[in-house]
Amino acid sequence: MSALESAAARELPASDDLAGTFTDVSSAAGRSQEEIGAILADLHFGTIFTDHMARLTYREGEGWHNPRLEDYGPLSLDPSAAVLHYGQEVFEGLKAYRHADGSLWTFRPGYNAARFNASARRMAMPEIDPRDFLGSIIDLVRADGAYVPQLPGALYLRPYMFSSEPFLGVRAARDYEFLTIASPVGAYFTHGFQPVDIWVDDVYHRAGPGGTGEAKTSGNYAASLLPQQEAAERGFEQVCFLDSTTGTLIEELGGMNVFVSYRDGSVATPALSGTILEGGTRSAILRLLADRGVVAREVPLPLAQLLKDLKADRIAEIFACGTAAVVTPIGRLAGREFDVQVPTGELTVELFDELTGIQAGTREDTYGWMYRLS
Ligand SMILES: *Cc1c(COP(=O)(O)O)cnc(C)c1O
Repeated sequence: MSALESAAARELPASDDLAGTFTDVSSAAGRSQEEIGAILADLHFGTIFTDHMARLTYREGEGWHNPRLEDYGPLSLDPSAAVLHYGQEVFEGLKAYRHADGSLWTFRPGYNAARFNASARRMAMPEIDPRDFLGSIIDLVRADGAYVPQLPGALYLRPYMFSSEPFLGVRAARDYEFLTIASPVGAYFTHGFQPVDIWVDDVYHRAGPGGTGEAKTSGNYAASLLPQQEAAERGFEQVCFLDSTTGTLIEELGGMNVFVSYRDGSVATPALSGTILEGGTRSAILRLLADRGVVAREVPLPLAQLLKDLKADRIAEIFACGTAAVVTPIGRLAGREFDVQVPTGELTVELFDELTGIQAGTREDTYGWMYRLS
């Protein structure tokens, strides 16, 4: 078990015991039922936000204080705020799901809370009490529950923190803001699975040894945007990054981990080398596979071997995974010297059904992964 997995296995206080920590200081009326209904009838990713945002402030000496629910809206920031210059920011992504009986749930929030603090440590930022991380989600979802769509839609939750101290000196800032915002999202795939075409980049890297690849921080995404843009210009949907030391090992996509399933029944995923972000979806899939009797090998995954295995038809399917899309089949892998089709198979579909079934409450949650928000 990884450190994040052990942290995620710890029992969390019930949402009723944490609710109400974030005092509602909002004053706007919020959208009407009709307006919310129209939004939920036409969902896009990350464009519309709910009526409120949860917020917590940190000052040196005072620590985290003033948990509150504010009207969703623009922030007031000093132009010299440290985050705008040196990029101290970390974030998380998780979803709230509406079950058939109307109850609202989320998936392994303890994992996200632990990862948030691991990211914060790497970026020299203060950690937050996991109860506050969780409390922000509970109070926001309870206030804006009308925005949680029917399945397969969900309310995407984005807790994040940034340095707000007005100071241009280069050191860890002394002031921070923590916020959780929420955006209703539809099913990632509206017409069944659509395999994605992946560009394997041999020019750019998203992370290096001793860097911040293991932290969920904005700078890693900033570094991935130009390669992502160039891949899009070539007609590819996503970039797969190689390790920056040898340029030979498959690491991950800009925001998703990768699995390879072989015709002999075995499965492999790149080992956590320190430059790969440890996905909660990756972790859940490792567990689901183990319970099917498949212990996925967490190993360095050379691109050359992968191409050889594809050519010899030893690979059954390759898929990417992350909270937003859950599981995505990869249909094509190309780089400057190769361009190959990847077969699609049943494992991707089965894992997708299993995970989304647990999240939807239609499959038994034997792992205790689901957490009731309301
Ligand atoms: C968030 C993220 C993932 C996926 O993590 P999940 O917890 O499964 O959503 C993978 N790679 C990177 C770089 C990420 O930022």
